[in-house]
Amino acid sequence: MAAKRDYYEILGVDKGASDAELKKAYRKLAIKYHPDKNPGDKEAEEKFKEAAEAYSVLSDPDKRQRYDQFGHAGVDGAAGGGGFGGAGMSFDDIFSMFGDIFNNGGGGSFGGFSSGGFGGFGGFGGSSQQRRERGSDLRIRVKLTLKEINSGVSKTVAINKYVKCSECHGSKAKDANGVKTCDRCHGSGYVTSVQNSIFGRVQTQTPCPDCQGTGQVITNPCPHCHGKGVVLEKANVSFDIPAGVTGGMQINIRGKGNAAPQGGVDGDLLVLVEEIPDENLIRNANDLIYNLVISVPLAIKGGTVEVPTLDGKAKVKIEPGTQPGKVLRLRGKGIAMHGYGRGDLLVNVNVYIPTAKSSDDKSLVDRMDSADVFKPTSEVKENIDRDYRRRFA
Ligand SMILES: [Zn+2]
Ligand SMILES: [Zn+2]
Repeated sequence: MAAKRDYYEILGVDKGASDAELKKAYRKLAIKYHPDKNPGDKEAEEKFKEAAEAYSVLSDPDKRQRYDQFGHAGVDGAAGGGGFGGAGMSFDDIFSMFGDIFNNGGGGSFGGFSSGGFGGFGGFGGSSQQRRERGSDLRIRVKLTLKEINSGVSKTVAINKYVKCSECHGSKAKDANGVKTCDRCHGSGYVTSVQNSIFGRVQTQTPCPDCQGTGQVITNPCPHCHGKGVVLEKANVSFDIPAGVTGGMQINIRGKGNAAPQGGVDGDLLVLVEEIPDENLIRNANDLIYNLVISVPLAIKGGTVEVPTLDGKAKVKIEPGTQPGKVLRLRGKGIAMHGYGRGDLLVNVNVYIPTAKSSDDKSLVDRMDSADVFKPTSEVKENIDRDYRRRFA
């Protein structure tokens, strides 16, 4: 069997691609290679399936994380606790699977409660060897202003998420009599098999198939949550965004994703940061850029101007004879860097050159034209060259 291609490579996106980028890339490929469009074309069909498989893994936060960490081994078969049924999936399967999730607007849940998301066993020699269900991760986007990014911000958003069932408190059972200890594993959550091998008797333990490793069987499920232990609700979730984040960054808020039933581990909230463009300031890493436009007389005479910053207006001195393209650096007026102070605000000076309209305008320009002071000398040219080289060096 040929080596499997990298999922990101298949979709033609980079590792940090957002869900929107993944979706867009996948849609494009799905349409291009759709079997209806390429009847009898085996290669197109393979490409179509390949893209569907890549997308189904990368669009699931749990699977994507495992894939990023372990590669194909993390999502194929047993290792991934579910894995992918790739080859059998059709275009329609994929779209019906993800369509409603993507169409419910921002802040929706991705994938809901993951039945495959078990958290593994509880460690060595412990009394608790039962399998613990894990709530799935939730992915949301938050839009932040540059001001919020600079200061860091606490956010509260209302999202659809699984919360512990208020009736059964996550136990899944209607009442205390609705649950019994698993007959097969006697509540241990695992079954032991003994095999004879050349090394002697070898014991292996596997999760109990009757209770899925939980040690308990629900005989009378809670009617409110239908025995799931969790219910989907609109819930307010609060979290902090640290200062200095950038658009496209994902912040992992532990335990604020979908709840797990009793005894399980809640999923994480994955917050994808988006930047709201500022009307005045342009972000360049931790620096900010402000395009200042001054008049010709001000550039000649010099003076003081006000520029907007994240902390209100700041006064900036314009030296007499300021050239267009001059950059004035306001130290520490940029974006916060994690614990290293702040970047700078770069004021990029533009000089507005008007067209002369009236006859008065024209005679004024004629007078300027005849004055020697307006004629650039070779020294001026050298100075401008030197400044330019310094700026782009
Ligand atoms: Zn319940
Ligand atoms: Zn059992």
